[in-house]
Amino acid sequence: MKISIVGAGAMGSLFGGLLAESGNEVTLIDVNDAHIDAVRTQGLRLATDGGDRQVTALKAVRPEDATGFPDLLLVFTKTLHTGAALSGVRHLIGPRVHVLSLQNGLGNVEKIAEFVPLERVLIGVTTWPADMVGPGHVHSHGQGVVRLMAADGVERRFVSQVAEVLTKAGLDCTSDGTVWAAIWEKVAFNAALNSICAVSGCTVDELGRLPDGSRLANEVVTEVLSVALRLGIDVDAAKCRANVANAIDHHRGHKPSMLQDVLAGRRTEVESINGAVVELAGPLNIKLPVTETLLSLVRLAEARSVA
Ligand code: NAD
Repeated sequence: MKISIVGAGAMGSLFGGLLAESGNEVTLIDVNDAHIDAVRTQGLRLATDGGDRQVTALKAVRPEDATGFPDLLLVFTKTLHTGAALSGVRHLIGPRVHVLSLQNGLGNVEKIAEFVPLERVLIGVTTWPADMVGPGHVHSHGQGVVRLMAADGVERRFVSQVAEVLTKAGLDCTSDGTVWAAIWEKVAFNAALNSICAVSGCTVDELGRLPDGSRLANEVVTEVLSVALRLGIDVDAAKCRANVANAIDHHRGHKPSMLQDVLAGRRTEVESINGAVVELAGPLNIKLPVTETLLSLVRLAEARSVA
């Protein structure tokens, strides 16, 4: 498959490297010149449980230098950059290109559908983790899965082909009509742990030092999933609470991306996580006092940290 990945940071490079290794024609597209130059000149250094190696069979370009129509355009920017990123590669969106988002948060389908018809949008969720070590160098550990579906819910051959291609690359993907429940459960998990860590400065395990950490996290999970349930999405609250408890018990020293962004003076994804849920709750007349307060506090932390 001919695959372009716009937003080739930690996740985009992990997926791009694995997809290139399994024989696909992959182009990484990013505005980070140091990263693009490193991949172009030395290949991508990919450190996973499968080994630490250099992947050279892939292209890396800036958006304006990308050419041709891919079969699949994978969007892996942070959610606040999706619109700018798709504008930058508008010339790649030919009449048959499908666009896939595995980004965190809500609102991804709506943003992508401004650029391609809804029947060519794929949406999903992934549990793979990845970190940028430096330009041209990405690290991931453990195992993850990908679940995806057509955004309009119609079963199409291309969606299962994408799932097969990702699985062949070792990414363990299923095409699955119940993806929205998994997306909302991840939003609840992220709304809880990311925003509490971002405003408190705690790592995930440090939330376990006082009962307040777990209590607040569980209140956010309950609030977020109450919106999902009202929208008719069959989320599993007990599983989500267990995932939060497991993270607090075991993710020693982990700084969620929202905390890393605040510390680095970057804008966070809070608007597409807590913000999107609060926006959906308004017309449903559902009150989310903890989620909304955390949203305001993250906005304040951002306003202070972003130059
Ligand atoms: P990242 O910051 O490492 O990568 C994002 C990349 O997008 C950067 O390289 C940046 O230069 C690029 N970018 C920004 N604006 C651009 C533009 N206009 N055109 C082209 N490229 C542009 O982020 P990440 O950690 O890879 O996360 C990507 C998405 O995946 C986020 O939504 C995140 O929540 C989600 N996610 C991350 C992980 C993880 O472990 N890192 C796991 C699951 C999901």
